[in-house]
Amino acid sequence: MSQDNGKSRSNAILVLGGGISGITAAVELAEMGYEVYLAEQTASLGGRVALMNKYFPKLCPPACGLEINYQRIRKAHDKIKVLTLARAVAITGRVGAFEATLEIQPRYVNQKCTACDDCTKVCPVERPSENDYGLGTTRAIYLPHAMALPMRYVIDMKTCKGKECAKCVEACQYGAIDLDMKSTRITLNVGAIVVATGWVPNDASGLANLGFGTCANVITNVMMERLAAPNGPTQGKILRPSDGKPVQTAVFVQCAGSRDENHLPYCSSVCCLASLKQAGYLREQNPESKAYVFYIDLRAGGIFEDFLTRMQNDPAIVVQKGKVAKVREDPATRDLNIEVEDILGGGKLRMRADLVVLATGMVPSVRTAPLPLQLVCDEYGFCAPDGQLPGIVPAGTAKGPTDVATAIQDATGAAIKAIQWIHSTTSTPSITA
Ligand SMILES: Cc1cc2nc3c(=O)[nH]c(=O)nc-3n(C[C@H](O)[C@H](O)[C@H](O)COP(=O)(O)OP(=O)(O)OC[C@H]3O[C@@H](n4cnc5c(N)ncnc54)[C@H](O)[C@@H]3O)c2cc1C
Ligand code: SF4
Ligand code: SF4
Repeated sequence: MSQDNGKSRSNAILVLGGGISGITAAVELAEMGYEVYLAEQTASLGGRVALMNKYFPKLCPPACGLEINYQRIRKAHDKIKVLTLARAVAITGRVGAFEATLEIQPRYVNQKCTACDDCTKVCPVERPSENDYGLGTTRAIYLPHAMALPMRYVIDMKTCKGKECAKCVEACQYGAIDLDMKSTRITLNVGAIVVATGWVPNDASGLANLGFGTCANVITNVMMERLAAPNGPTQGKILRPSDGKPVQTAVFVQCAGSRDENHLPYCSSVCCLASLKQAGYLREQNPESKAYVFYIDLRAGGIFEDFLTRMQNDPAIVVQKGKVAKVREDPATRDLNIEVEDILGGGKLRMRADLVVLATGMVPSVRTAPLPLQLVCDEYGFCAPDGQLPGIVPAGTAKGPTDVATAIQDATGAAIKAIQWIHSTTSTPSITA
């Protein structure tokens, strides 16, 4: 380590965001010999991919891609320090010599946890699961998700009854629970920062005409992933939220709020493929079922063309140009009545369905929860690929909506870029607090 205007120069790299992009950047950097801090704000690595049932185009479960990367993290453990429940609260300095202060929230469960699950059996508190997007619940002490790394429980202190209860402390034979844990701050000296903070689902509550929030059987595409996932709230059975009946007819509404000046003006590029994939989940599970996908324009570029053709070959998946204008619930049956503007034929189509899935788009995380860093963003809040402060490298869906394979490629490039910054000798301005 050398000195740069009083601050220590460092070859270490901080990666913000532990989804597939951040994990990829971190392992690539570590395998090239760089010291990496991988900071994830939630209690586990994995990001949105860990919450999916399967991913296109191969339709493999998330465990496939994630487990390989987790093994790479374990192998490079002397180079990668994984920090969960960690968010950057201040970043100062300049390329080669940043000082990043991270706040680490208490997990209340230490490394002695074996994930035996004894604690959840005695916990009296049931809370909505953020990972199930409101479709399921967990106890106040819970495992973040099936693909959690670290495989360690966490307590939601907002709902936990605290020391008056302490039933989990008694039940844990490993002494892993510490209700007194406090948040801590650490300051890291790093040479470059990769911003892999990903995306959040667009809030569908503004889509009143499509019934979200008022009709129980109208859900979003991320909720559908959880409904279909074996580790989800229905153990993978695609059931109507209102009454738990198996779904016979589902309607997928493309561009639900997307490419609409009043909501999200842009296309999230993966939603068409995601809906086709989800129509496939339903068909696989229930051979008598039927799925309708109504789209304005169908987006399936490059290598995904084959996937589109494969899904369209199923006569029970009807892919039709049409704009869904209205969804209303029949109060007696909770069935959904749907009105579609027939774009090609003209006029209106009317139909009934058990479930409506809104293909809502992807919003950059940094738009809803900004970083303590001046990022250059496009008009939609995604990080611009170029023009960031020297040493700051955005990666993956923080830069724009993409599929997993593209996010991985991008994150690999971001790792190279971060190394280039560390070794650059150009004089650059400093960020002050
Ligand atoms: C419904 C749907 C289905 C999809 N299905 C597929 C599919 O089948 N195949 C496919 O290829 N793609 C699919 N995608 C796209 C896929 O979800 C993305 O490509 C993938 O999530 C990108 O990973 P990421 O790491 O860039 O972002 P994310 O998965 O969003 O990960 C970002 C991580 O950063 C963390 N984070 C955010 N802010 C901070 C902060 N300030 N500090 C620390 N950590 C932070 C988050 O908690 C998260 O863990 C789908 C998308 C949708 C909407
Ligand atoms: S906290 Fe204790 S009881 Fe709960 S899963 Fe971990 S080891 Fe088991
Ligand atoms: S102390 Fe909190 S987490 Fe533990 S059993 Fe009681 S409510 Fe659940």
